[in-house]
Amino acid sequence: MIKTNICIIGAGPAGATTSLFLSKMQIPHVILDAAVFPRDKVCGDGLDLKVMRVLNNLEEGFVERNILTNKNFTQSKSVLVHIAKNKKALLEYVPKNNQFNYPYFCFSKRKYFDNFLVEKINPVYATFLQGTKVEKIIVDENERKIFAKKNGEEIEIQTKLVVGADGDHSVVLKSLGERKIDRANYASGLRQYWKDISNMQHNHLELYLPKSLPLAYLWIFPLPNGEANVGCGLQSAFISKKNINLKNIFNDIITNDPVISNRFKHATPLEKSQGWGLPLASLKRKTFGDGWLLTGDAASLICPTTGEGIGPAMMSGYIAAHFIERAVKTNNFSETTFKNYDREIYKRLNESINTYNIIQHISPMLYNFIINTITPNSLCRHFFKKNVVKWIQTAYTEKIEVNID
Ligand SMILES: Cc1cc2nc3c(=O)[nH]c(=O)nc-3n(C[C@H](O)[C@H](O)[C@H](O)COP(=O)(O)OP(=O)(O)OC[C@H]3O[C@@H](n4cnc5c(N)ncnc54)[C@H](O)[C@@H]3O)c2cc1C
Repeated sequence: MIKTNICIIGAGPAGATTSLFLSKMQIPHVILDAAVFPRDKVCGDGLDLKVMRVLNNLEEGFVERNILTNKNFTQSKSVLVHIAKNKKALLEYVPKNNQFNYPYFCFSKRKYFDNFLVEKINPVYATFLQGTKVEKIIVDENERKIFAKKNGEEIEIQTKLVVGADGDHSVVLKSLGERKIDRANYASGLRQYWKDISNMQHNHLELYLPKSLPLAYLWIFPLPNGEANVGCGLQSAFISKKNINLKNIFNDIITNDPVISNRFKHATPLEKSQGWGLPLASLKRKTFGDGWLLTGDAASLICPTTGEGIGPAMMSGYIAAHFIERAVKTNNFSETTFKNYDREIYKRLNESINTYNIIQHISPMLYNFIINTITPNSLCRHFFKKNVVKWIQTAYTEKIEVNID
């Protein structure tokens, strides 16, 4: 039996980040994960600027030292949107005088990236239990008990705070009776690793909005060693309404679609396509209560317009650590201590949530038509060029302010 003030369940980007910042604040805690790292996670492997910002808030210059010089990451300064056969839009970031010569996006296989994060977990403050699967949790006003199994042996953890960082199939959510899927705020996605897709030499972040996948996009993300992450995602309500088989549509695009199938003619798939769910932030799930707090996918924080969830997961871990610091200082782990936690999270996601809510009211075909008309427009390129410098500068240099009051 283990006794601790804080127990983080899950060591993906959300849980690992919470642990890293708690250690920075010198707060002892337990973190456990059912898997033994390195482990895979179905994902597009795209790391947005939020990821870079959180890491540079962990340690100044962290990204420059550990990511930009690391051969397990690829970097991209351009977005290439495929619109129709021989019709594309290229949004490029060309830094002036070598200032902020940083990428707009990075890519790394989750098997590598998540392990890269957990290797930074500090054993001075964190007791990290891998291969430890939580099976049951009792969380109420008076008690928080976690029952887990490691190598067939039962472990009981008594804690003042349970941090649910255990992803989309969260056992914390199940224990709270909260894991119900709302299809309007949930998407299904799939990923397939490929090798030797043609025309990958520029490391573009590539997107394609095929007519057969309304309200969704197919991505091709460049990875090290000539590999690529290819996949697509679609809102679950739409999938069930139209009885869509995502795998079939995906395979059909890669094999037959006139816009991109040529690129796959001499390429090799490295696996069967793998599916997983995306709990979207538009759900606005309750994220805290007496003795519990949710982060990342467990809190349903994926950006609904882009599908990015790693950045929001890490941002929520960073914010959670600040609220936990107050709970430790005041020895108060009740709901009132965390009352502004969701405000701090959603203020960074509301723009995307509002856009998503508008999109839902226009027809998918009209939406794709608008996007395909706007993207190649020179105004769009101008907007991207003008703002991307600011976004990159913020990500690499600005402190993330958390207002806990
Ligand atoms: C097809 C697809 C493509 C995507 N593409 C991108 C992308 O390109 N960029 C992006 O930013 N986001 C992307 N996402 C979203 C992203 O993958 C998630 O948002 C992100 O993984 C959330 O991190 P997390 O730490 O909350 O959860 P996870 O990464 O799921 O980690 C949860 C951890 O909890 C552990 N766990 C689960 N249950 C238990 C238990 N009972 N006991 C102990 N441990 C447990 C798991 O082993 C796991 O390590 C994509 C998602 C999908 C499905």
